[in-house]
Amino acid sequence: MSFPFFSAAQIHRFYRRLASLIADELLPDEFPYLLTPAHHPALLTSKRAMLVVNRARFIACLFATLTPLWSVVDYIFFPTSLWLYLLGLRILTSLAFCSLVIFYHPNGTSRDAYRSLGILALIPATFYLASHIALASFQLTEISAAVAIGYVFLPFVLLTCLSIFPLTALESLALACPILLAQGLSSFISQPAIGSISWLPSFAGTFWLLAILTGIAMLASMSQLALMLVLVRQASHDPLTRAFTRRSGEELLDLQFSIASRTRTPLALAFVDLDHFKSVNDLFGHEAGDLVLKKAAETINRMMRTGDILVRWGGEEFLIIMPNTNIQQANIALTRLYQKGLAERQDGKTITASLGIAERIRDAAINSHRLIEIADNRMYLAKNRGRNLVIDSG
Ligand code: GH3
Ligand code: MG
Ligand code: MG
Repeated sequence: MSFPFFSAAQIHRFYRRLASLIADELLPDEFPYLLTPAHHPALLTSKRAMLVVNRARFIACLFATLTPLWSVVDYIFFPTSLWLYLLGLRILTSLAFCSLVIFYHPNGTSRDAYRSLGILALIPATFYLASHIALASFQLTEISAAVAIGYVFLPFVLLTCLSIFPLTALESLALACPILLAQGLSSFISQPAIGSISWLPSFAGTFWLLAILTGIAMLASMSQLALMLVLVRQASHDPLTRAFTRRSGEELLDLQFSIASRTRTPLALAFVDLDHFKSVNDLFGHEAGDLVLKKAAETINRMMRTGDILVRWGGEEFLIIMPNTNIQQANIALTRLYQKGLAERQDGKTITASLGIAERIRDAAINSHRLIEIADNRMYLAKNRGRNLVIDSG
């Protein structure tokens, strides 16, 4: 993409500079992940969702304790009827926060994370509006009026809380908007409590401060997300082949298995083991062996469809997870792969592989471990039958 005044290279450099302000190790193609969650990798989505829910519960725990404590201040400065009303409100709010801590457990989906954030924002927003209605109906003077103004700080606290979540720009905005709206509404309601101060300048001043805070919270959330992105990528990818590591591969396979079971769609899995790989190391050295592994992973990646997942399972063993693929489709794709060979040795000889394929529905696998076991057994069968072979049954 190029604009009239800037070349593609200049725009690319600008993007890199911008991304480096947030996290230096961010890759240019990861930058859009900071703006919207639309194309986040599955592993990032599930890890982020878990983190968001647990942090929401942590904040809920904090508020559950602090909300009733402020009643002491209310008791000293407010008339008894107002204090009692606020006490009831505070106890209800605290119980609502407690329920979020006790009953809400993360399941690793985005929807679950959004729900927890929604509940976390809704509880104090309701408290905020209800307390303002009560405060507005009392003619408070001097110190009690000053304490009442303290209630104005709640939106500031809520916006500050946003910054502890790893969120995209769009998500931060979506969460900040209801808080800003609640602030607008409460300004109308609480005019009598503010007394002689004319409404518009104080509203504009507060709103401006909240807008600045929203911007800062947004940047903090995005930089947390950027760090998380980099860490998840580094921890989940093998540096030599750039395939997923065994641990993250297991997580991804579990995830794909439950999606496939829920949607009743096929899920194929191939176990790939390079043939006579040890001889490459023995004849040409370990570095030449590494190069062959890298090339083999590149070949497999080229053959795979978008959505397929390559995992480095062990030294020269790979798994290919193929969502929504039946055994025939997997067999056609992988036969093409093994016939072509995966890489070349230093002396020009082709490196072949033995492959075993399993499919969730056809092989009636009850879980992802069983699927791996079946594919592994078939790979050994291919080895025993002379190598350079794909086996999908037996
Ligand atoms: P087969 O056809 O029966 O699979 O024989 P093979 O030689 O491929 O299998 P074997 O299990 O005997 O040897 C695997 C070798 O892979 C042994 C190990 O030194 C080598 N290896 C494992 N990880 C790496 C790595 O990261 N780099 C290199 N260069 N070699 C590795
Ligand atoms: Mg092996
Ligand atoms: Mg081998």
